[in-house]
Amino acid sequence: MSATDCIFCKIAAGEIPAKFAYQDDEIIAFHDIRPKAPVHLLVVPRVHIESLNDIRPSDGQLLSNMLMLLPKLALEHGLKNGFRTICNNGPDGGQEVNHLHFHILGGGGRLPGF
Ligand code: 5GP
Ligand code: ZN
Repeated sequence: MSATDCIFCKIAAGEIPAKFAYQDDEIIAFHDIRPKAPVHLLVVPRVHIESLNDIRPSDGQLLSNMLMLLPKLALEHGLKNGFRTICNNGPDGGQEVNHLHFHILGGGGRLPGF
């Protein structure tokens, strides 16, 4: 999928609405449209990187900033007792949107094990 028909690129550009939880010049976060838990956020780089298979050393600071944002947003959304983060990669990883993103899930008690 190219960046031009990518739904998360369109959300980042403001072309498709989303319920935003955070945005800065390199990262956005918004509520998942089909939440799998009471709190279900997606943390997404503005730049179109397809998955972790496509990251480069020059993306290191961006990825670090995304990771550090995860617990901050989780706490801001009341997940004081823990949260789960998921990053699906490629077809066998269950990735549906081919633009790198971290899920934040929690808020309904202990999540089931795999
Ligand atoms: P993946 O399976 O790729 O890791 O997760 C993609 C996630 O994006 C899914 O949980 C799905 O519900 C969510 N999603 C797909 N399209 C939209 C959309 O247009 N808006 C929002 N807010 N979430 C979306
Ligand atoms: Zn994209």
